[in-house]
Amino acid sequence: RKKAIIVGSGIAGIATAIRLQNQEIDAHVYEINDSPGGKLTEIHIDGYRFDCGPSLFTMPQFVEELFEVSGKNSNEYFQYIKKENVCNYFYEDGTRFVACADQNKFAKKASEVFDVSESKILKYFQKSKQKYDLTSSLFLEKSLHKLSTYLSWDTIKAIIRINSLDINKSLDQVNKKEYKDPKMVQFFNRFATYNGSSPYLTPGIMSMIPHLEQYYGTFFPKGGMYSITMSLYQLALDLGVTFHFKSKIDQILVKHKKAEGVLVNGEQILADMIISNMDIVPTYRKLLVDQKAPGKVIKQPRSSSALIFYWGIKKKFSELDLHNIFFSEDYKGEFNYIFNKKNVSDDPTVYINITAKNEENDAPKGCENWFVMINVPGNQGQDWAHIIKKSRENILKKLSRILQADIKSLIETEEILDPITIENNTQSYQGSLYGASSNNSFAAFLRHPNFSRKIQNLYFCGGSVHPGGGIPLCLLSGKIVSELIQKDYNHK
Ligand code: FAD
Repeated sequence: RKKAIIVGSGIAGIATAIRLQNQEIDAHVYEINDSPGGKLTEIHIDGYRFDCGPSLFTMPQFVEELFEVSGKNSNEYFQYIKKENVCNYFYEDGTRFVACADQNKFAKKASEVFDVSESKILKYFQKSKQKYDLTSSLFLEKSLHKLSTYLSWDTIKAIIRINSLDINKSLDQVNKKEYKDPKMVQFFNRFATYNGSSPYLTPGIMSMIPHLEQYYGTFFPKGGMYSITMSLYQLALDLGVTFHFKSKIDQILVKHKKAEGVLVNGEQILADMIISNMDIVPTYRKLLVDQKAPGKVIKQPRSSSALIFYWGIKKKFSELDLHNIFFSEDYKGEFNYIFNKKNVSDDPTVYINITAKNEENDAPKGCENWFVMINVPGNQGQDWAHIIKKSRENILKKLSRILQADIKSLIETEEILDPITIENNTQSYQGSLYGASSNNSFAAFLRHPNFSRKIQNLYFCGGSVHPGGGIPLCLLSGKIVSELIQKDYNHK
């Protein structure tokens, strides 16, 4: 049997290992940390449990598929429910809106709250679906960097209808054309943050993202987001994948333009193929120092990072649910701070995730586990201590005002994650959440391919390479890599 080494046990690394093991390739995963998951982990403090990173679960079919291809019953490993209400929205002028998963209910409610007709919204969702259906097989499900991808009927269809994809407009321009009500524009602009981009820069094609939420739905995994990691980790173990924790890979060994193995703790370990789940920038800068890095790809501006306060709150708030957004008043200004000034505005949009709404054991009785997050720029040496102090005060002021409660006095325990700690914990360059940003029309083509053009036997998966960040795309990157390997090595 052939042997594969996977650098990192992020969700894409685990997914790749599962698929390779199913292809009868012995998969060995090396991980710096002492447990799997990368950005998808959890922490326990003082009786509270918090998911550390991702909180929104979409496209569960990509997780299901891993159990399917492994011939296992997913129910025995992993369960989840569909959310009827996707998210609660709070605007500074007092407007409140509950986004329902059902499109018709959503449109009806939106027409009551905003200056918009039901039919306008339903039409928008239709266009969103068309954009997704036209491009998903080209941009998400295949390698963008193989000629065969371009010789397909799907690609030809997408090219014929390229004008309808709004590639040359920004998401904000598309939404402004559709909606008169600035609050509706802000609502739909927010979807740019799903891949860490700015609605004022990212192309209008991103208006396909609401389709994922409003058509496929949003879900909550039993046990919290971390159970995605743990169920896939268990599946990998059951299939025979070997995990090596506390094992930092220091170098990918390359001889005569072929990857031959890795260097771990001074020891050379050989394999037939190496798959890096490490962020693509440090993969080149730290593991492939003697190889020429693809400059343009590596220099792509990064997606946003996050500042998160994990607060144990000794009160329950009936007006909050699993996902809650408190919009800033000046959305454009907020993104200008993040992507141009590389700083944080005084009125950032605040997201609160409360898993105790679904899993009551995640917080002590009568309490809630608040994961309070704002979008921030990646780490470029800013004074984070100052930014954290200032943002904490601004967030507390905003939430106390809108929820009419003294939030500061309700915090009984606290932990903080910032771009520096995200980078330290996961090696993600600048602590970005989703690899390169999608702040230009060609971003998809400038993401690194899932294979090396110069070094044989070397592949890449995870949020910093094609097709991009976020759990669903990371899982797809594992699928693409396994298909490339199947072709390259002619495995059945
Ligand atoms: P990562 O999770 O980045 O893991 C890489 C792993 O490789 C790490 O464990 C690291 O320790 C290991 N590693 C790196 N270098 C080495 C080495 N040299 N040797 C050994 N091991 C190494 N996505 C969503 O879908 N929904 C959300 O709501 C969402 N919200 C997010 C919120 C936050 C705060 C964060 C941080 C991310 C969020 N994301 C969300 C994005 C999502 O978490 C990521 O896209 C995804 O988890 C990245 O997975 P990955 O496989 O690329 O690897």
